[in-house]
Amino acid sequence: MTTNSSNTMALAPNTSNKRETICIFGTGDFGRALGHKLIQCGYPVVYGSRSTKITNLIPKDAEVLGHAEAAQKAAIIIIAIQRQHYNFLTPLAEILHGKVLVDISNNLKLKQYPESNAEYLAQLLPGSKVVKGFNTVSAWALQSGTLDASRQVFICGDDVEAKQMVMNLVRALSLTPVDKGSLLAAQEIENYPLQLFPMWKFPMLLSLGLTVFFFLYCLALDVIYPYIYEKSDVSFYIAISIPNQVCPVMALVLLGLVYLPGIFAAIIQLYRGTKYRRFPDWLDKWMLCRKQLGLIALAFASLHVVLSLVSPLRTFESWRTSRRIVSQALNNQTEPLDNTDAWLSDSYLALGILGFFLFVVLGITSLPSVSNSVNWREFRFVQSKLGYLALILCTAHTLVRGGDWFLSPSAYKWYLPNVYMLSLVIPCAVLVVKCVLILPCIDKPLTQIRQGWERNPKHSE
Ligand code: NAP
Repeated sequence: MTTNSSNTMALAPNTSNKRETICIFGTGDFGRALGHKLIQCGYPVVYGSRSTKITNLIPKDAEVLGHAEAAQKAAIIIIAIQRQHYNFLTPLAEILHGKVLVDISNNLKLKQYPESNAEYLAQLLPGSKVVKGFNTVSAWALQSGTLDASRQVFICGDDVEAKQMVMNLVRALSLTPVDKGSLLAAQEIENYPLQLFPMWKFPMLLSLGLTVFFFLYCLALDVIYPYIYEKSDVSFYIAISIPNQVCPVMALVLLGLVYLPGIFAAIIQLYRGTKYRRFPDWLDKWMLCRKQLGLIALAFASLHVVLSLVSPLRTFESWRTSRRIVSQALNNQTEPLDNTDAWLSDSYLALGILGFFLFVVLGITSLPSVSNSVNWREFRFVQSKLGYLALILCTAHTLVRGGDWFLSPSAYKWYLPNVYMLSLVIPCAVLVVKCVLILPCIDKPLTQIRQGWERNPKHSE
């Protein structure tokens, strides 16, 4: 037997409150990090390893033994070994009989094996009580103590008592156990660390697709069209002008798309006369990613603000301004101030600033730390009422800028509408239908349906 008892004492304050020994199989990264944390919390730790040689990486005060010897010292054994090596446990089946085995393993990719690692372990050692846990916690976070963002430890297992023991252990490490049920949930828990921003995939792909579409649309109308018909090379628009059209357009369209599924949901509920039937899958998924769509919209709106602020610094803008001044000087004329234009430009800016301010408020309240500190009504007020107000202001901001283009034939290059007109379609549709939905004769039955009333109860599932 070897004991690494060099210096430090366990940080457990009270020795009378002695904790049970925990065995860890494997002295790799995770085994060492968890052992270190357990010792800090006052647990005696014994490692089961292929080599009982102590290195200075092993946490101080930990014992290192062979697997069989170490297993006999503890009721809970944490298997900090990759799944592909689990076969070495089969000869230990007798010693491990009745013990609680904690499977912490992860895979490299989704659906790597037909069954979860924990279920595989349970098949190999049917006499042991397998509990899945700790796999969503990283060795680095355990070691460095930076667990603030991931204090939750998902636990599942078929043996209630064994699961309870592991959950107590989790609590003792100042982490929060989340009971996910039987071992059947292990596959889902093992998939958590392999997911790559699952809620962001659809919003990102949609935003990317729309951005490419609007960029090419603006390129065709603002760069290629003048090049072909006016022999004018304005390819430099690609750097600032076009992005500064695409960004506000994307912000407005995505904000419209945040509120559009709610409109569809209301129409479906009104049509069905019940809220107890599931929405179509596409609508469910769309509703679930509204927050992400809104945050991407906010990112585009912020870019639009920055691009607009740098616009006066452009050579093109100073050339345009000086040309106007020179032309006025040459003609010995001063353009009178057009009051309507001044009103339009000031209103356009004011609406944009107010809309952006509300956009930021929406973004801030969607942060978990903020949304957790407001109640349901406050959250709904901000996300629904202020959200619609932001949509109204941003739509008005765009309308004031480009409203007259609808009537101007020159705006229809190649018979195509200007990009700002396109961007108004979804928000205007949302706002018009919303106005209809809040009419008392429609709002009343809709509210009743949402409170559980059914037009025809036999339709409910
Ligand atoms: P690791 O550094 O590669 O350590 C694995 C340990 O397994 C080795 O140190 C070794 O310990 C033992 N081992 C290796 N080959 C073996 C064999 N043929 N037979 C018996 N034992 C063998 O891996 P790790 O990062 O600690 O990860 C261990 C487990 O934790 C994995 O299943 C991983 O998915 C999971 N996990 C890791 C993290 C993380 O952040 N690292 C986070 C969550 C979950 P001995 O030399 O002492 O025998």
